[in-house]
Amino acid sequence: MNSTPLIQLRQLAKTYQTGDVMVQAVRGVTLDIARGEFVAFMGTSGSGKSTLMNTLGCLDQPTGGDYLLDGAGVANRNRQQLAVLRNRKIGFVFQSFNLLARTSALENVELPMLYAVPVISRPERRQRAIAALEKVGLARRHDHHPSQLSGGQQQRVAIARALVNRPELLLADEPTGNLDSRTSIEIMAFFQELNASGITIVMVTHELDIAAYCQRVVVMRDGAVLSDTLNDQPRSALAEIMRLNDLAPAVKLS
Ligand code: ADP
Ligand code: MG
Repeated sequence: MNSTPLIQLRQLAKTYQTGDVMVQAVRGVTLDIARGEFVAFMGTSGSGKSTLMNTLGCLDQPTGGDYLLDGAGVANRNRQQLAVLRNRKIGFVFQSFNLLARTSALENVELPMLYAVPVISRPERRQRAIAALEKVGLARRHDHHPSQLSGGQQQRVAIARALVNRPELLLADEPTGNLDSRTSIEIMAFFQELNASGITIVMVTHELDIAAYCQRVVVMRDGAVLSDTLNDQPRSALAEIMRLNDLAPAVKLS
């Protein structure tokens, strides 16, 4: 078992310069996230959560401090190297799903494999995309375009897309922000299952109800960590779904 923390942040900082205005979105965050953790970042709007997630996801470079992913420094890598790192290790899920509109669910899920190194053959891409859609309970929705799917189903397609390269780390920025509460709990049940299978998950939420499903809650304020708390007894999303189904049995999962 590799005991190096999957994520190591040391005085991580990100400053945006827009014209004369300088915004210190993240100012000196130091923390570790071990393999297998399920962490929620919380904090008011503007506290730097998305900036931090984009940095963790190698979508953006920090302007100060260090970020080690799997023990290797991320700073000073060029765009191409970052893209390779991201593609290999990280899956990303967004609040607004970010699916291609005129593209079927299956093709959306195949997309990240187009850039995979080493190359994945076309039949294998298809086979893996089908398996990923099955895993999120959308086996019969391959041909649907995003507009033909509910918000919850679109987010499942996005999660399938995030998982198709078998990442070690899943990052999700307010993944339930556009979903009703029952669908949100279904997504959390899936995340808990994924986490139990070994994937490290870091997500942003501003809902305490959602953070209660995570094992650790980091609260940010003004770009810094305000508190960092372990949750010894995360709520079980599956148990919650079963309870809700007892109250209203007509609603089924997926
Ligand atoms: P949160 O996700 O917690 O709402 P953000 O990380 O989006 O916070 O934003 C943190 C701060 O950085 C805010 O003041 C925001 O306006 C600023 N910010 C975010 N992205 C940019 C950007 N691309 N350019 C300039 N300022 C930005
Ligand atoms: Mg945000």
